[in-house]
Amino acid sequence: MSAAQLGIPLTVLVVGSGGREHSLALAISHDPSVEAVHIAPGNPGTAAVGTNHPVDPCDPEAVSALADEVGANLVVIGPEAPLVAGVADAVRAKGIACFGPSAAAAQLEGSKAFAKQIMAEAGVPTAGYRVCRTPAELAAALDEFGPPYVVKHDGLAAGKGVLVTTDRDAALEHGAGSEQVVVEEYLDGPEASLFVITDGTDALPLQPAQDFKRVGDGDAGPNTGGMGAYTPLPWLAPGTVQEVMDTVVTPTLARMRVLGTAFAGLLYVGLAITKAGPRVVEFNARFGDPETEVVLPLLHTPLGQVLYAAATGSLAEVGRLGFDDRAAVCVVLAAKGYPGSPRKGGHISLPPETDRVHVIHAGTALDADGRLTANGGRVLVVVGIGDDLADARAAVYEHIAKIDFPDGFCRSDIAAKAI
Ligand code: AMP
Repeated sequence: MSAAQLGIPLTVLVVGSGGREHSLALAISHDPSVEAVHIAPGNPGTAAVGTNHPVDPCDPEAVSALADEVGANLVVIGPEAPLVAGVADAVRAKGIACFGPSAAAAQLEGSKAFAKQIMAEAGVPTAGYRVCRTPAELAAALDEFGPPYVVKHDGLAAGKGVLVTTDRDAALEHGAGSEQVVVEEYLDGPEASLFVITDGTDALPLQPAQDFKRVGDGDAGPNTGGMGAYTPLPWLAPGTVQEVMDTVVTPTLARMRVLGTAFAGLLYVGLAITKAGPRVVEFNARFGDPETEVVLPLLHTPLGQVLYAAATGSLAEVGRLGFDDRAAVCVVLAAKGYPGSPRKGGHISLPPETDRVHVIHAGTALDADGRLTANGGRVLVVVGIGDDLADARAAVYEHIAKIDFPDGFCRSDIAAKAI
């Protein structure tokens, strides 16, 4: 992309309906070269940023037809399911630039066994593993690695396919009935999420973030889609991002190119920072939620143009990404009952946003009277920006205290330990 092209006017279609997509649509709308933002299907939050369209995000024909209809020259796919369903392929087949990997490349997320095989072939530092197809293979793999046991279902499971336990029977049971499970060596150390924007060859890292997967304070209770996040990570050794780019991202992208399934889009590298160095816990093929909500507000480089460059194979011309020197913390307000059976329909009343705090919609809807209601497990994501993590965190919790959502709850300890 030449300097002149850096400013090409963009009409962007964002695919998805969660907090990540609201965050993406918001950041894209701040790019001065973006003339219009459309969201399919979107939510009440994205309706304030662009135009929502009631289209099934996993229907390749419907999404590509909508992209045509609204005159989009860039489609950005948020969630994993449309990627695995081949929506990016269908959009590209219409000659429209699409940020999101092909269905074949999205197997880096869609199949744990595929991801582990690529990592092994590329020499990427990660946990040892065995693919098990029978109860006997599963039992043998558990005993080979020992406790704590890590058992993963092979396919997409929205964050619920993984069990980490010291209970051998529970580990056996988690794998039972599955055609294929992956058993892994346990990785000990704090986790970090690194988002990497890539056109398949060149790659630009965003700022690393940490999310909180367990539902309760002190990391108690079951896993969720994520209850909060923060960036930057004061505890992460300088040079870690470059090390991960060199030892993980570059060899993985090279291996994918060799296989003829170049990975272009967002490579999400989930890391455990072990005593021996960073190790890959997982790859995802899309932005992580809720880390997106803290990473994007600190990005200076216009997001629409960066994603367009990645989608058109010209990321090299973007150079580096610029970040704000401040900190961001987000806290998820979930509906009571989440992650089991979240209560739907609870009313929400939001105070006005401030220059330090904004609210991202994840699972909201408008009822017949036009009132904002809960319509999912994770309902809202409150995002605070501050001079440092303590400042950002204080801003978030002050704002949450003013939100009227009797059916909601949140963790009270997001980012506390990092301060
Ligand atoms: P995944 O879906 O592969 O990211 O796994 C979900 C969560 O399970 C991760 O964020 C980790 O907290 C945990 N986990 C996964 N794999 C391992 C591992 N090999 N060792 C320790 N914890 C793991």
